[in-house]
Amino acid sequence: RKRIGVLTSGGDSPGMNPAVRAIVRTGIARGCEVFAIYEGYQGLVDGGDKIRKLEWEDVHGWLRVGGTLIGTARCMSFKTHEGRLQAAENLIKRGIDALIVCGGDGSLTGADIFRAEWPQLVQELVQMGRCSKKEVEPHQFFTIVGLVGSIDNDMSSTDITIGAVTSLHRICESVDCIASTAISHSRAFVVEVMGRHCGCCGADFVFLPERPPSTDWASEVCGVVERHRAQGKRQTTVIVAEGAIDAELNPIKCEDVKKVLAEHLGLDTRVTTLGHVQRGGAPAAYDRNLGTIQGVEAIEAVLRAKPNTESPMIGMRENQVTWTHEVAEAIRRKDFARAMELRDPEFAEEYAAYISST
Ligand code: ATP
Repeated sequence: RKRIGVLTSGGDSPGMNPAVRAIVRTGIARGCEVFAIYEGYQGLVDGGDKIRKLEWEDVHGWLRVGGTLIGTARCMSFKTHEGRLQAAENLIKRGIDALIVCGGDGSLTGADIFRAEWPQLVQELVQMGRCSKKEVEPHQFFTIVGLVGSIDNDMSSTDITIGAVTSLHRICESVDCIASTAISHSRAFVVEVMGRHCGCCGADFVFLPERPPSTDWASEVCGVVERHRAQGKRQTTVIVAEGAIDAELNPIKCEDVKKVLAEHLGLDTRVTTLGHVQRGGAPAAYDRNLGTIQGVEAIEAVLRAKPNTESPMIGMRENQVTWTHEVAEAIRRKDFARAMELRDPEFAEEYAAYISST
């Protein structure tokens, strides 16, 4: 029986649990054994009780739960050869020969490196006497499949990532809550939203990394807010995406925007950072469905992919589930694609370099 490991890695995203549930149940239905690897790559390196077999009933009720019930962590040792050697040994000792990784671009990069290195890792383990020839014999081939679980929606080759829609719902709900108190006091609110270099609701002005304003953004934002106030609007909302920058790549900070609104327009201005609120909580129906259909597809991919030569990434294109065979290429393309949205080729190049350096 094929033994498949599943782990969630990087920042948690709503929809990871539905994905793990679908992987476990589809795996069992297809005659496989599925092992949860707790705490992401850290669990892979640590082994022991961090690798546990999951049965059908173990994932009961997981569809409606946010975050990831098998845990996630940032694991420095998996970035080292020794860490990956230990991870390979733990998998071989458990007889696991396929791995499904649900995470962001960093996690999928790690997965791709691990897959490419696998034959060498196996050889080294035998040479070092850490595994016998007999033990590694069934493990010459290893399959890795990636699912993009991230609120950032920042991967090329897929239209949407698991968790992005729930996060947008959470932002809308939070901004609606802020709006009612802002109207009561005729206040201005500067709201910082997460999402690295990707921006996101009824706001007067939005600072998006993909559409950087000029360095004189203070005049732009004040012009818009003044016009809306003159039309009788009692509340002002300015959204600042985490990675917002101006046309010269200077970061735009909420406190700077607050200062501009307070000093130029005399508005009583507050800053709210939504932070992890937008990542937590139950997944929206969309992410329950997305995690489920991609989890099912991940098992199909494990059973059909060419071991050692490809690590397919499951995505969505025009509402169809897709496979991308070149994870590394999808990750490389993502920064350039985002940069090209700017339409100014010279600035796009500078911006692509800025994104990959941060
Ligand atoms: P998010 O989109 O939420 O940031 P992410 O998957 O991009 O998620 P990272 O912190 O970049 O999050 O990566 C998660 C883990 O993946 C790292 O802690 C590390 O264990 C592994 N990883 C990342 N990059 C590499 C790499 N180049 N080589 C090996 N492992 C890596």
